[in-house]
Amino acid sequence: MEYRDMGKTGVKTSLLGFGCMRFPTKKTDNGDVIDRELASKMLDEAIKSGVNYIDTAYPYHNGESEAFLGEALKAYPRDSFYLATKLPMWDVHKKEDVRRLFNIQLERLQTDHVDFYLMHALGRERFDEAVKNEVREVLEELRAEGKIKYIGFSFHDNYDAFEYIIKYYDWDFCQIQYNYMDVNDQAGFKGYKLAEELGVPMVIMEPIKGGSLVNYSDDIRDEFMKYDPDNSIASWALRWVGTHPNIKVVLSGMSSMEQVKDNLKTFNNFKPLSDEDKAFLDKMIEKIKSKVNNGCTGCRYCMPCPHGVDIPRNFSLWNNFGMYHNPNDLNFHYFGQMRGAHSDASACKGCGLCETKCPQKLPIREHLKKLDEEFSAYDRR
Ligand code: SF4
Ligand code: SF4
Repeated sequence: MEYRDMGKTGVKTSLLGFGCMRFPTKKTDNGDVIDRELASKMLDEAIKSGVNYIDTAYPYHNGESEAFLGEALKAYPRDSFYLATKLPMWDVHKKEDVRRLFNIQLERLQTDHVDFYLMHALGRERFDEAVKNEVREVLEELRAEGKIKYIGFSFHDNYDAFEYIIKYYDWDFCQIQYNYMDVNDQAGFKGYKLAEELGVPMVIMEPIKGGSLVNYSDDIRDEFMKYDPDNSIASWALRWVGTHPNIKVVLSGMSSMEQVKDNLKTFNNFKPLSDEDKAFLDKMIEKIKSKVNNGCTGCRYCMPCPHGVDIPRNFSLWNNFGMYHNPNDLNFHYFGQMRGAHSDASACKGCGLCETKCPQKLPIREHLKKLDEEFSAYDRR
């Protein structure tokens, strides 16, 4: 297992971290619950192979992730792993909420301390609220009581917000989403460089973009496998992230034993990408990007549509689907959220107003019709 020095914390973390938001589940009369037998075996396989960073959060699996870990991790000495969990910032409305929520988490996790504690999913607004509610001050109190070791944050907003937040306090670590297709999204590479300069070690979430970076069309898959037949397509995404020296933990939300074993193979004998590998991957990134269906830039000049169609979101999904072929993602967004809100392409009445405003001169009506037809084949409702 590859280990990294976690900067100012002074601890050594395994580069592969177990993300506990996508455990395998099974159906019961009370809905979907974690398949605890299989999830325990997966954790065991990972821990025995040297994974020492376990990352969960208050809302994962509707709270069951923390409770499951509380049981499962009893099998291992408490000082043999680092436990990371996150304060649900959306539930913090006043200072007192911090300790109340933290205590619930300690109880669920059946432990007396959390090693890495994060303010969950910070953006600029949520952070301002946290400052107002003196969240950091309470976390320092908890640290002084020995209940928290390291204080960090996870992040979802733009670069400016990232710069503001990371410079506001002296953080022990931070967690961002980062992958080879989205180096300019959210904190992005610029955020990575800033954290490195400031000496704040990084944990990365969604290195495989929620599974999208393995769901390529056959020609793309074939090319990856021809270049490196011994390693999975997922391993490229993990190695790309792990090649950055200030990234100390790459979280993978593993859902099957197969994924655990594949990830262990990548990190047990970790090889950073060589110059040749990087050149190959750059070429593949361009090929993947060329699979977009139209040139919508997301500028929103076409909006609002008088009939409620969210035109840029429809095109963003269509373009992502062209690149990643991820039917789960499609079902969640298109048939789950957008169809319910009547903002999907099928709500278009063909008035043509949007086309008079699009600087890219896109045939919006024709493309909406096309994407709706294409997506219908994947409707799992
Ligand atoms: S053509 Fe369709 S998408 Fe465009 S404004 Fe009219 S109803 Fe909305
Ligand atoms: S105006 Fe054109 S390019 Fe801009 S979001 Fe609308 S469809 Fe996309």
